[in-house]
Amino acid sequence: MLSNLATRDVETLIHPYTNLAGFRETGPLVLERGEGVRVYDSEGKAYIEGMAGLWCTSLGYGNAELVEVAREQMAKLPFTHLFGGKSHDPAIELAEKLKEIAPVPISKVFFCNSGSEANDTQVKLVWYMNNALGRPKKKKIISRIKAYHGVTVASASLTGLVNNHRDFDLPIANILHTACPHHYRFAEPGETEEDFASRLATELERMILAEGPETVAAFIAEPVMGAGGVIVPPATYYEKIAPVLARYDVFFIADEVICGFGRLGEMFGSPVMGMKPQSISIAKALSSAYLPIGGVMVPEVMYQAMLDESRKIGTFGHGFTYSGHPVTAAVALKTLEIYERDDLVGKVRKLIPVFQKRLGALADHPLVGEARGKGFVGAVELVADKATKRAFDPKQGVGARCAAFAQDEGLIARAMGDAVALCPPLVITEAEVEEMFDMLGRALDRTEAWVA
Ligand code: PLP
Repeated sequence: MLSNLATRDVETLIHPYTNLAGFRETGPLVLERGEGVRVYDSEGKAYIEGMAGLWCTSLGYGNAELVEVAREQMAKLPFTHLFGGKSHDPAIELAEKLKEIAPVPISKVFFCNSGSEANDTQVKLVWYMNNALGRPKKKKIISRIKAYHGVTVASASLTGLVNNHRDFDLPIANILHTACPHHYRFAEPGETEEDFASRLATELERMILAEGPETVAAFIAEPVMGAGGVIVPPATYYEKIAPVLARYDVFFIADEVICGFGRLGEMFGSPVMGMKPQSISIAKALSSAYLPIGGVMVPEVMYQAMLDESRKIGTFGHGFTYSGHPVTAAVALKTLEIYERDDLVGKVRKLIPVFQKRLGALADHPLVGEARGKGFVGAVELVADKATKRAFDPKQGVGARCAAFAQDEGLIARAMGDAVALCPPLVITEAEVEEMFDMLGRALDRTEAWVA
């Protein structure tokens, strides 16, 4: 029996990214409040938010400083915009701060409200730049199978997951997908990580040549793939991809929407993974998700092309009402200040070995084919047969069942197919990391008994 709140939910809401048919039976988990790394449901039950919401609430719940800065900015100037030359302090300061901490040289920052909007903006900016540079044929953008870049029309096209395309008539034209860099699943028998990386770089080059380099504009990649199942590329992957992109003048975009702001143990994920992108998409932990914000960090070469275009045609015709919203910008600025002041990235770096050790130990579990991760993000892939890596029939819903057992144990994890992920708030303590993995371990044991 669904509770009253649950019944009202089922009758009124369309839930994003949800099995709408199944949901009518199960109903929602209604969360009411949070404190630290824990959230509490409407019955008062506590959960460790092992996914930091959707890979985003890096400072956890109940951060009074963020609440206060939002209140102050609300009272002072709740809204103004950046259109037509209007401006305000929080947006200027936030852009300055982002330029200062960027892992590669950045000229300007464009603000939006989400990761999807950031990646849609990337597509438009690349097209705009290449028109400005007088190469109107150079428009194709290469993404990767299993990438996740969002759900708006262009960003969903970049996303390389079937459910984001099927029956939405996506991807749109000019978006291509190259191979997924997942060694466990896609390497040939006996192929080392380095050999696998070389093969993927060769495949990428073949794709560019087959399409015609004069038609290929950009390549986009998450340093570590998130929603595709937490996929860490093989050693030397970006090292080998980079010269291919450079050879054909293919613009390199990093989607740091998950990896940015400390997740991998440095402020940005790109340097951790040996990536040297030209532009960067950001969102999520930029404001610890307390308010929606996204952005594109734009290099000088792109900005100059945009300026040229503006000299030719006038207005740069792109922007959102809430681009650089003052309250959101103030909260993001405070978030960055807290990261720095509390040396949060340094603290994460110290705890990463604990997280990765507990994650790695799950590889011994009879259900776990691969335990993989980087920094403070990880996943276990559940398989029917460890020796042959045979997957379960997706209809069995084994990953979802494991996440449901975890929830019952008091841990919010996320199933992406049969990969079950953890990506906790960065403020988690060592004891809480241990507790989280104890709960996941119990959920795996219960899943094992359930499939038997
Ligand atoms: N890019 C990455 C790497 C993401 O993980 C996500 C969301 O999970 C997005 C983009 C899309 O962000 P949003 O949901 O804010 O549109």
